[in-house]
Amino acid sequence: MPSSSPRTRIDLHCHSTASDGVDTPTEVVARAARLGVQVLALTDHDTLEGRAEAAAAAARHGVRLVPGAELSGVVDDLGVHVVSYFFDEHDPEIVALLARARSSRVDRARAMVDRLAVDHPITWDDVLAQTGGATRTVGRPHLADALVAHGVVPDRESAFAGVLHRSSPYYVATPQTDAVRLVEVVRAAGGVPVLAHPFASLRGRLLHDGQIERLAAAGLAGLEAWHPQHRPDEVARARALADRLGLVATGSSDYHGAVRPCEIGQCTTPVEVLAEIEAQAGPPRTPPPCAPPVRAAAEGDG
Ligand code: AMP
Ligand code: ZN
Ligand code: FE
Ligand code: FE
Repeated sequence: MPSSSPRTRIDLHCHSTASDGVDTPTEVVARAARLGVQVLALTDHDTLEGRAEAAAAAARHGVRLVPGAELSGVVDDLGVHVVSYFFDEHDPEIVALLARARSSRVDRARAMVDRLAVDHPITWDDVLAQTGGATRTVGRPHLADALVAHGVVPDRESAFAGVLHRSSPYYVATPQTDAVRLVEVVRAAGGVPVLAHPFASLRGRLLHDGQIERLAAAGLAGLEAWHPQHRPDEVARARALADRLGLVATGSSDYHGAVRPCEIGQCTTPVEVLAEIEAQAGPPRTPPPCAPPVRAAAEGDG
């Protein structure tokens, strides 16, 4: 082991009110700091909306923020999540991908509300009241919160187990980007894509190894192995597959707030795994807006 210094606690997957978490980006970062998590990635679904606020809070709390997002994709007919780090947020393909993902989510959520409204007291305005603003990435958790507000179900978990479940007649799938293309776009933008909760069987059907191999061939960098919804055998399966495919194995909490029995830093990523992810990240392709002209900086002739 490298040193006797206190172990760096690294959590590379959590959510805020920018998508379907219940804490603001500021609250998420403050909570991480309080829990002794030194490195945190705020990975809201299909949006970078919470990033600036999180960065400001991270600077105040001395937390290092790893830039990332959890991107929605599909393999064959199965929806998957790819937590992606260090990509160039101004990359036009990334920008288009995020915009498309968010607008498909709105269309899909409206379609689910139309179906639910036949039998339950729920309107699109109720859902908007739960997202608190049009800029947030909408998802089933907001539908769940609207149903809870109307007393249809007691909590998010019950909503997911029943009316919002994939097998429910009210369920509508979101059209998603093919995950192979998603992985390629992230890599082309200098990013490092990791398959989120690949073996969380409680969520339903899983990818088979062959499908994960296809993602690996396209440039997938890692598998999230330690995750609150992975049983010990599922952690082991993810680690073994990552090993076999030459991928890194990460660990993260997927914190969404007090709505789930999970805490920031509950699962963590080894420091050497983060180092490997950083080593694989490309240089940002878009210069920051205030950078000096490259020629003057490089040649010193100004
Ligand atoms: P969607 O992307 O709209 O289909 O909704 C998926 C979101 O719901 C993801 O953010 C999951 O983290 C969350 N989710 C999945 N299963 C559950 C559950 N059983 N209870 C609460 N949230 C869940
Ligand atoms: Zn979520
Ligand atoms: Fe996810
Ligand atoms: Fe997540």
